[in-house]
Amino acid sequence: MDLTYSEREEAFRREAREWLEANVPPGPLPSGDTAEGFALHRRWERRLFEAGWAVVSWPRKYGGREASLTEWLLFEEEYYRAAAPQRIAQNGIFLLAPTLFEFGTEEQKDRLLGRMASSEDVWAQGWSEPNAGSDLAGIQSRAERDEARDGWRLSGQKTWCTRGAFCDWLFGLFRTDPKAERHRGLTYFLVPLRGKGVVVRPVRRLDGDEGFAEVFLDDVFVPDRDVLGRVHDGWHVAMSTASSERGLTLRSPGRFVATAGRLVDLLRREAARVDVDPTLRDAVARAWIDAQAYQLFTLQTVGRLQSGEVKMGPEASLNKIFWSEMDVRMHETAMRLLGERAELVDEAGEAVDRGAWVKGFQFALAGPIYAGTNEIQRNVVAERLLGLPR
Ligand SMILES: Cc1cc2nc3c(=O)[nH]c(=O)nc-3n(C[C@H](O)[C@H](O)[C@H](O)COP(=O)(O)OP(=O)(O)OC[C@H]3O[C@@H](n4cnc5c(N)ncnc54)[C@H](O)[C@@H]3O)c2cc1C
Repeated sequence: MDLTYSEREEAFRREAREWLEANVPPGPLPSGDTAEGFALHRRWERRLFEAGWAVVSWPRKYGGREASLTEWLLFEEEYYRAAAPQRIAQNGIFLLAPTLFEFGTEEQKDRLLGRMASSEDVWAQGWSEPNAGSDLAGIQSRAERDEARDGWRLSGQKTWCTRGAFCDWLFGLFRTDPKAERHRGLTYFLVPLRGKGVVVRPVRRLDGDEGFAEVFLDDVFVPDRDVLGRVHDGWHVAMSTASSERGLTLRSPGRFVATAGRLVDLLRREAARVDVDPTLRDAVARAWIDAQAYQLFTLQTVGRLQSGEVKMGPEASLNKIFWSEMDVRMHETAMRLLGERAELVDEAGEAVDRGAWVKGFQFALAGPIYAGTNEIQRNVVAERLLGLPR
């Protein structure tokens, strides 16, 4: 495999780096999972969009640059290297958009993608319900046909919607045929969160941010044009979103390469101050190696996708297990390096790196849960990749 980037790719990287160096806000923005932080992050998303960096791999007519997947990876690497703000638009641009490109009508793409790219519309994901998490096919929220108005009436409850309290739209699965086999009677709907009959209630997280929302729907009207894919075929459409979430787009290697680099830097600073336990040096080296391995693995996947050899399928579960467990290990190592200062949050005077490590640690712990728990991913690997019995 030739890992040399082409002239065009190197030029793309330089252009991204220069723009990010000139434009990334000097300090971190307040958390995007708070009302104030979300508004500032939305403004940042708008700036990215205006400069053509919000959705680099998309067609130009929706605000992209038609960059290749390799160029997208380079952009991501530069983005995290520059410590640029968290992407609050991620559920739309990384999860829903690939599904819209695959299943959406031209009318849907023209109506929704540009607004998504510019963050005029920010999207939340509405899969989970109080009794449907890992067992997603257990969804009970339902949609009933409204023939007179050419649409559907949605009722039920969604939960754990990331940043749902601040988002404009929700994509989610609803039961349209209660008599069908569990995986068959579901349909994928696009639902305005500010519509009549929708109540959004924030749920406070462990770190104090209102990062989640419960969404209650009571007879909410959704027109036919906001059904994505075929009626009753929502499971199939949703699996495309899930493979983006677990596979390539949600957690690109740039994120972990940057964290590993910061961990090396933290080790150097700590080693200049105190004697560092040699097992911690090993853990930092492992973090760095893991991030490089993940990057190489991703480049291999991108190479295969670009050659048309494969489509992202159940192997996305391998990715998800790897990145989420690597992230936990990296942050645990940082916690150990920081010792008694590990738990100091941003507001504490003595906090190292403005408390970013403990915040990152708390979020890393969620990695093996969101995007489908790692136990479920291991089931997928066992059954669908290794062919083991259920
Ligand atoms: C930070 C974060 C963000 C999230 N964002 C969203 C979002 O935006 N939208 C959304 O819809 N959801 C979101 N979720 C919810 C997430 O998808 C669910 O928490 C997850 O799918 C697990 O479902 P559950 O919480 O109901 O746990 P359960 O399904 O009840 O699982 C409990 C435990 O049992 C294990 N388990 C269950 N079934 C099996 C099995 N068959 N084999 C082995 N072990 C099993 C699980 O692995 C887990 O350890 C988010 C979660 C987190 C933590």
